[in-house]
Amino acid sequence: MPDHDKGRHPPPSQRLLGPLPIPSNPLDWSPIDRLILLACLVAIAPALFGSALIAALVLAPDYLHVSVAMALLLVYAVHFASQAAFLLIAWKKRRHSDHWPTFENLIIVGFVSNIMLTAYLSGTLFSTGLLLFFLGVNIASALASIDKIRLAYWSVFVILVLFAGVTLFTDAEHAPLFSRSLYTEDGAATTGWAIFEIVISFSLMAVLYLSILVIARWVQRENLYREMSSTDSLTLLANRRAFMERGTEELFRATRQAEQGPKSVACLLADLDHFKEINDRWGHDAGDSVLVRVAELLLQHTRPYDEVARYGGEEFAILMPDTTENQALEIAQRLCKVISEADIRIHEHTIRTTISIGVACCGGIRCYELQSLLNKADQALYDAKNHGRNQARLYRPGDHCDNPPS
Ligand code: GH3
Ligand code: MG
Ligand code: MG
Repeated sequence: MPDHDKGRHPPPSQRLLGPLPIPSNPLDWSPIDRLILLACLVAIAPALFGSALIAALVLAPDYLHVSVAMALLLVYAVHFASQAAFLLIAWKKRRHSDHWPTFENLIIVGFVSNIMLTAYLSGTLFSTGLLLFFLGVNIASALASIDKIRLAYWSVFVILVLFAGVTLFTDAEHAPLFSRSLYTEDGAATTGWAIFEIVISFSLMAVLYLSILVIARWVQRENLYREMSSTDSLTLLANRRAFMERGTEELFRATRQAEQGPKSVACLLADLDHFKEINDRWGHDAGDSVLVRVAELLLQHTRPYDEVARYGGEEFAILMPDTTENQALEIAQRLCKVISEADIRIHEHTIRTTISIGVACCGGIRCYELQSLLNKADQALYDAKNHGRNQARLYRPGDHCDNPPS
C-alpha cells in the first residue's frame, strides 16, 4: 500500500463486513420463529424461580405459606403446559405460516402476569416491576411486535399503580408467600430471604445477559445495513448515494469556510473507454474484474480524504476537498496514466484499458450545488471522450460540448 494510503478508509476488500459469513441473526428470522425463541426466553425466569420455590419447600417449608407456594407452582405448571402446547403447534405451523398473533398474545400476557403475580406474592413488586420494564422491553421489543410490548408496558404500569393503592389504603398482607417476617428485628435480611434474593438476582442476570446478546446482534445488523446502503457491492467503493452525501457535506464546509479564504473543491468524473468491447470480448465476469481493479487503482492513487465512488455502471466519481483546478487536473492526468499502464490479469489473460476524466472545481461562497459541479465534470468528460479518450479535461465556462461522444 503506498504511503499516502495510510490512515485512509480500508481498501475495498476489507471495507464491507460481508461477504464474510453473517451469523444467523434472530432479528432477521420470520415473526413466528422469533416468537418461538421469545417463548423459550421468557420461560427462563419462572423456571428458575419455580425451582427455587421447590427447593425452599423442601429445605425450609416453615418460611413459606405452603398453600400459597403450591398455588403459585400450579400457576407456573399451567403456564408451562400451555406454553409448551403452543410451542409445539407453532413449530408445525412455521412451515406454512409466518404469523400467529394468538401465540404472541399468550407469551406476553403469560410473562407479565406470571412475573407480576410472583412479585406481589414475594413482596418484590416494585423492584420487579421496574426491572420488567427495563429487561422485558429490551428483549421483547426485538422479537415481538411493538404494539404488544406497549400493551405489556401499560399493563405493568396499571398493576403497579393498583398495588400501590392497595398497599396504601388497605390492610392487605405484604408478601403473602412468606409465613415469617423476612427481616430480623434489627432490620437485617434473614438467611432464607437473602438466598431468595440471590436466586432472583441470578434469574434477572440471565435475562439481562440475553437482552445484551439481542442488542449486540441488533447493533451488528445495523452496522452491516448501514455499510451496505452506502457501499457498491462489486467494487466496495462508496456508492452514488454515499458520494452525494459526502459531496454535499464538503461543499457546505467549503462555503462555510470561504470567509477565511476561498476553498476549492474538485470533482472528477471518470468513465472507462470502450468498456462495452471488454465485456463483448472477454465476458461480463472479466468486465467486472476490470471494474474492481480500476476501483483499487483509483483508491490507491488518490489521497486519504478524497472520496472515490462508483457513480454508475463503468463510471467513477472522485471528490477532492481543498484542491485547485490545476492540482485536480494533474491528479486526473496521473490517474489516466496509471490505469492505461496497468496490466489487469484475468485468469491467464492480461487486459489493458483506459479511462477518460472530466474535471470541475468550485470555490467561494456560492459553491454548494453538487449537482451543478457534477454536470460540469460531465461536460468536461464528454470533451475528453470527443478529443480521443484516455485523457483528462478541465471544465471551462464557455467550452461547450453539445454533441455526445461517438
Ligand atoms: P465509451 O468509451 O464511449 O464510454 O464507451 P463504452 O463502451 O465504455 O460505453 P457504453 O455506454 O457504450 O457501454 C458501457 C458498458 O458498461 C455497457 C454495460 O453493459 C457495461 N456495464 C455497466 N455496468 C457494468 C457492470 O457492473 N459490469 C460489467 N461487466 N459491465 C457493466
Ligand atoms: Mg465508458
Ligand atoms: Mg459510461
